[in-house]
Amino acid sequence: MKHVKLMDRLTQYMDAGFPILYLNTFEEKLAMELLQKAAHNAGRVRLIQWDMTQGYSEYSLRKKEYLIPPMNCEFTELTGRMEMKEFNSSLFVIKDISSLLDNPAAVAFLKELSIRISIDIESNIVLLSSVVKIPKELENFVTIVEMDYQTEEEIQETIQRFCEEQETTISRQLLNEMAVNFKGLTESEIISILSLALSNDGDLSRKDMSLIFEQKQQKIRKSGILEMIPLKENLEDIGGLEVLKNWLKKKAVVMKDLGKAEKFGVDAPKGVLIAGVPGCGKSLSAKAAADLFQVPLLRMDMGRLMGKYVGESEENLRKAIALAEAISPCVLWVDELEKAFAGIGGIGGGAEVTTRLFGNFLTWMQEKEAPVFVVATANDITKLPPELLRKGRFDEIYYVGLPKDEERRHIFEIHIKKRRPNDLKLIDLSRLVKETNGYSGADIESVVKDSIETAFVNQKSAVTTEDILASIKQTHSLSEIMKEPIEQMKKIYEQNKFKNASK
Ligand code: ADP
Repeated sequence: MKHVKLMDRLTQYMDAGFPILYLNTFEEKLAMELLQKAAHNAGRVRLIQWDMTQGYSEYSLRKKEYLIPPMNCEFTELTGRMEMKEFNSSLFVIKDISSLLDNPAAVAFLKELSIRISIDIESNIVLLSSVVKIPKELENFVTIVEMDYQTEEEIQETIQRFCEEQETTISRQLLNEMAVNFKGLTESEIISILSLALSNDGDLSRKDMSLIFEQKQQKIRKSGILEMIPLKENLEDIGGLEVLKNWLKKKAVVMKDLGKAEKFGVDAPKGVLIAGVPGCGKSLSAKAAADLFQVPLLRMDMGRLMGKYVGESEENLRKAIALAEAISPCVLWVDELEKAFAGIGGIGGGAEVTTRLFGNFLTWMQEKEAPVFVVATANDITKLPPELLRKGRFDEIYYVGLPKDEERRHIFEIHIKKRRPNDLKLIDLSRLVKETNGYSGADIESVVKDSIETAFVNQKSAVTTEDILASIKQTHSLSEIMKEPIEQMKKIYEQNKFKNASK
């Protein structure tokens, strides 16, 4: 049977008398099967259910029949009618908790029952929902339980079973590759994508991989906390940052053969923090790392993580981590880390949540076992709490500064080659380099783009050094705009002895 681990966990929670379990899932039918078995194992005799459409019902877990078949009834009507002790030895399942959030009588009832469960009633309440919304009054009684993601082997079985049912076949190799690509999706999501792929052209083939990617990308985006980024950039697209690139290459060898590396005594890579001047290749490095490791890239949006209900932000972080672990090996890119963790240690509701969230993130960084390689990027490290910068959280912290001469030459080369490969040999890169001291990589890219557009508009057949120089004259470099803060930052990095990403 699948989800044995989850069922055992539920049984344990029930046995231990946890008052409210919040089961967070879209898969209601499967969840109900697991709950019934777990409740039976924990010695519960009755399943009491309430939801908006079916109303109230009581079901005997021993005789497997209804004691009271579903009947229409408001939640509060029910709670006023029964004595607390009548709920003994029961599992109480509520499916539409969001409809009860603004109902003080319902919340008060659940609170009272929770207190009684903590004292003398052998029962449990399960809130079954696809979104986590916990009334503040119940917060202390609630334990959130997440459905397990399918393992790679389970996904393989799901695909095989699907093929048998649909009377179609799939090669062993494709099956294995598909299973890897499906990681992080639930069984019903996998089946719906397989059905779509099959209905497209009547069989499952390698062509369907892009469909799987797109569908998975959408599903993950809908979950609202992680985004799956298509891999377009690689190490060759980064000009300069040689030290960082070499370091990533070393980690790639380990990531690609993690089992063997660990047996040899190598620590599993945790991740890297890349901080420094905006527009100088930090995000580019996160993307290139995933390409180099040949694993998916997930971007965590810290802004969206922060929820408005109690416990929602922590739950979102937990979910994001669970999803990243299910998809692992992968790169988890935490973009603009300083924005997420600004206000740590402050006073007030928002700051407290951030502090807790931060603590959870650190603990995970410290203890994580799944091969999730974290690439955190930050523009302004002065806002980051010092705990994050301590050794052991990240494998390394790199500082990215404005590109030096040789690096700017390389960046020009990359961007000219991308758009006008034939013009490159006629361009005097040394002159461009001389005129762009203080320009960021993004500045250089925009200069190149701009000069190519102008050349096109002027109906020229090629882009020349002069065209690009003209564009440079019209551009204000980053260091012109942000001279002070950049110098300030550089000092802090040097004081903290961060490694320079460039030679
Ligand atoms: P940030 O450091 O703010 O994360 P990005 O990596 O997003 O900056 O850079 C923005 C864009 O500028 C990139 O997509 C790329 O086109 C260009 N760029 C920045 N740095 C480099 C670099 N070192 N080499 C090549 N292109 C670069």
